[in-house]
Amino acid sequence: MPSTSDSEILVVGGGIGGLATALACARSGREVRVVERASKFSEVGAGLQLAPNGAEALRILGVLDTLDEMAVFPAQMAMHDINSGTALSRIDLGSNLSKRFGHRYRVMHRSDLLDALLSAVRALPNVVLETGQHVTQARIEADGSTVTCANGNSFHGRVLIAADGVNSVLRRQIHGPDSVRCEGYVAYRGTVPFAELPEHSGEDTVVLYTGDGNHLVQYPVRRGELYNQVAVFRSSQYRPDLDDASWATPDELDAAFAKTVPYVRASISRIDRQFRWPLRDRDPIRNWVRDSAALMGDAAHPMYQYLAQGACQALEDAVTLGACLGVEVSGKALARYARLRQTRTAQVQLTARKFGEFIHLGGMAASLRDTILQSHDPADYSQMEWLWGWRGSLDGADPDAGICTEELMEETR
Ligand SMILES: Cc1cc2nc3c(=O)[nH]c(=O)nc-3n(C[C@H](O)[C@H](O)[C@H](O)COP(=O)(O)OP(=O)(O)OC[C@H]3O[C@@H](n4cnc5c(N)ncnc54)[C@H](O)[C@@H]3O)c2cc1C
Repeated sequence: MPSTSDSEILVVGGGIGGLATALACARSGREVRVVERASKFSEVGAGLQLAPNGAEALRILGVLDTLDEMAVFPAQMAMHDINSGTALSRIDLGSNLSKRFGHRYRVMHRSDLLDALLSAVRALPNVVLETGQHVTQARIEADGSTVTCANGNSFHGRVLIAADGVNSVLRRQIHGPDSVRCEGYVAYRGTVPFAELPEHSGEDTVVLYTGDGNHLVQYPVRRGELYNQVAVFRSSQYRPDLDDASWATPDELDAAFAKTVPYVRASISRIDRQFRWPLRDRDPIRNWVRDSAALMGDAAHPMYQYLAQGACQALEDAVTLGACLGVEVSGKALARYARLRQTRTAQVQLTARKFGEFIHLGGMAASLRDTILQSHDPADYSQMEWLWGWRGSLDGADPDAGICTEELMEETR
């Protein structure tokens, strides 16, 4: 029997972004309802890197200590050439990093992060969680928004937060139509029990083997019990009109890594072939807010994963939403949130694109890149300060700062 339910803050999407938003708003004293399409709250996929800015957001949300029981704290990030094995650069993730940013670098299973958020949300009396609710449309008005689900149920919120991911249905209604970008890159990923591995790149290392149009990332997760692997390559089978199952097939995965060092080939042979993730982003946009509805997380700023920042940025959004909606539940608070977040997330989206091009260079450009990388001081974090140094405070941030996503895009083209 279809029903209608009311809440102060209605969050559509119960992924990392949606649950973190629910937690942040509930901790600010708000009544929150989360509406999730799946039959349970879960994450598909494997590992997640959590840079100091993401850790700071989780500290503010009060879940960092719980998460740390499951996380791994790598001592370094190492980059190698995928075809020769040559060491290219190293970043110190140990005490130098925590002295600089106040947090260590963490790697974890993404389910462990989702479960930590879910337990924290479930412990709060002012959050209602709904599963099996596939939102198909919204009616957005100045004093509240109502969403309707495929099963006929509808939910109303004084404000609506769209946390429904890269393929967001609500983005169309809040922002208007825009297209997802895909450059033909795909990720295969999964975990292997650490104890079953004949060889690995170290219990304390995040490793990146990089080549012309392909790379492999590996790191341990879940207290070191599992080894996470992400293999990415540019598919020559890709055409925009093909459905996702028809390109970047497992055969092409093997072919894409056929000329790599034996260690990488052996790792690829162990990678899960059941699922693949076509890599997609969108251009930064200005209007995240329409009346009483706002976008957050991948629905607002989907980005390539090359900087390992999509979830970290969703967590920063959540903290900012909690702070703004804690003051007042209104379109004005949503507009303030958007102003505080848009320039930064646009910069992360566009830098992730550039970093993808940088790690996938070939020929002379790759040689030049490698020379630069090999002279890099492992404890020099100056390039990462703007990204990893986020402190979560709204003090000093100018809520009326001009939003310059277009200028940023021009700069990075
Ligand atoms: C290969 C890969 C590696 C990555 N590695 C990292 C990393 O190391 N570090 C990092 O910070 N980020 C990483 N990311 C990015 C990160 O996974 C995402 O940015 C993050 O999960 C976004 O969270 P979200 O909650 O905004 O969206 P999602 O995780 O997509 O969640 C959206 C939720 O909304 C639900 N939903 C969707 N539509 C509807 C609807 N119509 N009605 C109701 N519910 C709906 C979905 O079921 C889902 O639960 C990686 C991404 C990829 C692809």
